[in-house]
Amino acid sequence: GNKSINAKLVLLGDVGAGKSSLVLRFVKGQFIEFQESTIGAAFFSQTVAVNDATVKFEIWDTAGQERYHSLAPMYYRGAAAAIIVYDITNPASFERAKKWVLELQAQGNSNMVMALAGNKADLADSRKVTTEATQAYAQENGLFFMETSAKAATNVNDIFYEIAKRLPRL
Ligand code: GDP
Ligand code: MG
Repeated sequence: GNKSINAKLVLLGDVGAGKSSLVLRFVKGQFIEFQESTIGAAFFSQTVAVNDATVKFEIWDTAGQERYHSLAPMYYRGAAAAIIVYDITNPASFERAKKWVLELQAQGNSNMVMALAGNKADLADSRKVTTEATQAYAQENGLFFMETSAKAATNVNDIFYEIAKRLPRL
């Protein structure tokens, strides 16, 4: 029969990296040019079919502001997966992403599936973080890496699908 799996997933990353936009694209197939900043966190759910299973993602889209940092553990604790998002045009957002990776490695659950999303891949002309640099970093840290664009709908369903495939089967 078809197995059904619930998976808590958290999005972490700098303000403005595109966390909410990735979720909106994945859940509703939409993009908003002037997406409002997230206050605290927002909850969404969406299902993905993989092989013999249906994975229902319970998605926590966090704010990213430093003043909400102390709330983050509430969202990543017990999470089966995390997407850490940075903006390929913003090196500071990549540095912030690395800090989240360190925090999850130290505090997160040990079999968490971690994906790194280099978002805004449509802004190739303004790129400041190279694919190669991130790839090397991702490999060293055992992360799964994709460049995405919430705007152009590039690799958005794919990153959730790849995470779904990597979740431990019950
Ligand atoms: P968050 O703070 O990480 O949730 O980021 P938002 O989703 O609010 O996005 C911040 C800004 O970047 C908004 O103006 C979005 O429209 C824009 N944005 C998000 N994703 C993309 C993308 O893939 N490409 C481009 N060009 N802009 C994006
Ligand atoms: Mg947001």
